[in-house]
Amino acid sequence: MKPANTLLAQTGTTIFTVMSALAMQHGAINLGQGFPDTEGPEDVVRAAAAALLDQRNQYPPLTGTPELRQAVAAANARFYGLSIDPDSGVCVTSGATEAITACLMALLNPGDEVVLIEPLYDTYLPVVKLLGAIPRLVRLEPPGWALPRAELAAAFGPKTKLLLLNSPMNPTGKVFTQEELDFIAGLLRQHDAYAVCDEVYEHLVFAGARHMPLMTLPGMAERCLRIGSAGKTFSLTGWKVGYVSGPAALISLVAKAHQNLTFTTAPNLQRAVAYGLGKPDEYFAGLAGALQAKRDLLDTGLRRLGFATLPANGSYFITADFSSLGFAGDDVAFCRAITEQAGVTAIPVSAFYVDAPPRHYARFAFCKQDEVLQAALQRLERWVASRPLTASP
Ligand code: PMP
Ligand code: GLN
Repeated sequence: MKPANTLLAQTGTTIFTVMSALAMQHGAINLGQGFPDTEGPEDVVRAAAAALLDQRNQYPPLTGTPELRQAVAAANARFYGLSIDPDSGVCVTSGATEAITACLMALLNPGDEVVLIEPLYDTYLPVVKLLGAIPRLVRLEPPGWALPRAELAAAFGPKTKLLLLNSPMNPTGKVFTQEELDFIAGLLRQHDAYAVCDEVYEHLVFAGARHMPLMTLPGMAERCLRIGSAGKTFSLTGWKVGYVSGPAALISLVAKAHQNLTFTTAPNLQRAVAYGLGKPDEYFAGLAGALQAKRDLLDTGLRRLGFATLPANGSYFITADFSSLGFAGDDVAFCRAITEQAGVTAIPVSAFYVDAPPRHYARFAFCKQDEVLQAALQRLERWVASRPLTASP
């Protein structure tokens, strides 16, 4: 038999699925894959249920229902002062995952170079490669996750087509600062490059940090495609409703990619998300405030157990250095061991690097009920107390 697609054959099952399966198998509390363990806002869910019954269940328009496109444009104006045309500047997708692929398809030709920042979300690299583009990786290192400006500048060249920027960032919880974004914008202008901005955690930002879309910086509106996710903004990760905002010239190409990927997204969910995006500011502030309290609960608990946690200014995640626990093994062995022995699952941070990853950090999701976080901490406490530890084979 002829070999099928070699790139996909080489791509493993995503670490999130692998660790969730392991958590199920061992009855572990799953602080691995990032999903809330409660329903999203009841009014938004009810809006979706009601929309199923009002006779509008056939294919919605290719770029999204008018209600949702208008709501996305209005949210861009309300939160960031961005002026987006609801008719030509928005494309609704089936989750941010599809949006990322559609944006990359819209911009890349084979042989183009793409600047990616490690640690990176797991769909970026396989899609860049499938499109025949060439990744140029720039690394952020724990514990500071500082942007190495000289290395970033050196990754840009005449063939650079785009930078893929994730802020607030998974898994680090880093929210890029105005200075860092200014520097990035300068590089994009200098090299006449685009940016695909994965901003799925835009509303999950904590006190002391502020999310600023790269698109708001001078000269960036025509170069940026900005991606949001209803899954994160409404704590309904299974809905898979994403949206891309950008200049009409680029959105028309994103729409062409989308027409070949999924064509449309469930109309009742789109209309419920349109309703949700219109919720008052208190909803969005409340979402971030509640998550911040959970971050603090988990952070304090992990520190008490001897983990060295890194600051997380946004997203669902805390990165924790476990080296002071004296565990004999790397992060993959550690996450397996705590799943099997403690009954708590986390994600090894090495999964977000291509080569030579740091090997003593685990990513814990805190988007869980307080009592679940407390139970996970108690389990870890018992496990830590039962040392000496050994790596599982
Ligand atoms: N980008 C990042 C950085 C993510 O963490 C996620 C989480 N699922 C996604 C994209 C995908 O979002 P969605 O579920 O809307 O496809
Ligand atoms: N974004 C989620 C995370 O980082 C996982 C999404 C998925 O499982 N594909 O945990």
